[in-house]
Amino acid sequence: MILAHKIALDPNNAQATYFARAAGVARFAYNWALAEWGRQYEASKNNPAAPKPSQAALRRQLNAIKREQFPWMLEVTKNAPQMAIMQLGQAFQNFFAGRAKYPQFRKKGVHDRFTVSNDQFAVDGSRIRIPNLGWVRMRETLRFTGKIMSATVSRVADRWFVSLTVDTPDTSHLPPAENQGSRSDTSLSAQGKDVVGVDLGVSALATLSTGEPPIPGPKAHKALLNRLRRLSRGLSRKVKGSANRRKAKARLAKLHARIAAIRSDALHKLTTDITRRFHTIGIEDLNVRGMMRNRHLARSIADMSFFEFRRQLAYKAAMRGGRVVVADRWFASSKMCSACGHALETLPLSVREWACPVCGVVHDRDVNAAINLKNMAVSSTVSACGEEGAGRARKSAVKPASVKQEVSFVPV
Ligand SMILES: [Zn+2]
Repeated sequence: MILAHKIALDPNNAQATYFARAAGVARFAYNWALAEWGRQYEASKNNPAAPKPSQAALRRQLNAIKREQFPWMLEVTKNAPQMAIMQLGQAFQNFFAGRAKYPQFRKKGVHDRFTVSNDQFAVDGSRIRIPNLGWVRMRETLRFTGKIMSATVSRVADRWFVSLTVDTPDTSHLPPAENQGSRSDTSLSAQGKDVVGVDLGVSALATLSTGEPPIPGPKAHKALLNRLRRLSRGLSRKVKGSANRRKAKARLAKLHARIAAIRSDALHKLTTDITRRFHTIGIEDLNVRGMMRNRHLARSIADMSFFEFRRQLAYKAAMRGGRVVVADRWFASSKMCSACGHALETLPLSVREWACPVCGVVHDRDVNAAINLKNMAVSSTVSACGEEGAGRARKSAVKPASVKQEVSFVPV
């Protein structure tokens, strides 16, 4: 499994200058190759004998001319332009496969970055050695073990980070979840203690089926959001091209980065906590696109980044040999009574608490949804019990084909 760990760097002034220069070279090489690609592609259309553009050919072509035409490229690691063109090749592959739009030119100051391949740098504890530069301090040590594949140094507001990608050999190298117990002991599993349902919400970040208090969203966010609004208003009043505008822009970028870091931290803590405690995790397959159309929901959904939540859960569960069960998109986790299985016709978002018209049980909207997701995960475990013996090779994500028919609702 390929994992990335993004670590803040502590460069001195000379090192920060080098980073900016290397990112500039990478951007130039990327844009040069993108322009060449278009030109050579047009040429090959008119002349069938002319070769189609490729990243390997473009790398050779740039190497042949850079000493003459772009001597300033030689001041930084040769990896910076080379890897940028390889990334362009990947961008074109994604485009041809229909996964992405046609590659765009990179802009200065927008996600400035450069990548170094693993034969060109070394990591030693909390420092990294970059070619032509020497050792740079990292704020923490690399969290994963395995073969280091590449390092990407990037700027976020006024700080520099390195993202190290690691190929971890054994995906389940972390201790199993606390409630997992021995897999041969089915009693624990039968009680469902190792299973949890997680409802991601609007009012809270997440509600668990355990009945514990819902996990609130990151708190600092609201206060910072007010500051953000003030700063953006201030920015629009500054004269274009002025030094004051530049400074205001930098302050705004810094605040954006801080808010993003706070959110990311809350999300990581939540997904680590859940995968540490539970072996099987039932979650919803949210129709985020549909929900984004609802303007009231859009803000909170964007804030809580459901896709990122699901991605983190999946890889963190896999690292402990656990699994994530995703409910069918049409699985009515909110509208169904978790006590008797009765499904309501409608349940407006404003209704936080409701009583089942059939069995009379009063539900908290989010807890009820979480319990339904847990039951869904339990039933999929039972129906997929043939897989239980597979041990570590178990699938990390199982998508039950038709959840509605399988689920039997037993009161919890
Ligand atoms: Zn009921």
